[in-house]
Amino acid sequence: MKKFSTKTRSKTDFIKIDRQVSELIEESNLMEGVVTVFIPHTTAGITINENADPDVTADMELVLDRAVPWEGGYSHFEGNTAAHVKATMMGSSAQVIVSGGKLQLGTWQSLYFCEFDGPRTREVWVKGISE
Ligand code: ZN
Repeated sequence: MKKFSTKTRSKTDFIKIDRQVSELIEESNLMEGVVTVFIPHTTAGITINENADPDVTADMELVLDRAVPWEGGYSHFEGNTAAHVKATMMGSSAQVIVSGGKLQLGTWQSLYFCEFDGPRTREVWVKGISE
């Protein structure tokens, strides 16, 4: 397993991590197989979505905030229940096919680290399995 860290810049942040994941695939010489990208945090997640128009992730933030407001009369003592719920909505891992040593994402797709209780320094764990 390989790891890298990423610094998030605000309370909610969507950071493209294709480049770092691709570099780890190259380092490990994985040519054909699958890679799992895992987020070891309870208030951050991962998703795959559009890489071209930054308004897409801005709109995702808007929709998530509407669905799960920060203030909601929650019980959790840390006061960050919204971040926990959003992390669960995104999920904590993504799996992508690797072929020819490259991540097989669609033209308009990127892997996004999803921060919901930043800014912080976060970890991403990556494990490739050869076919
Ligand atoms: Zn908490």
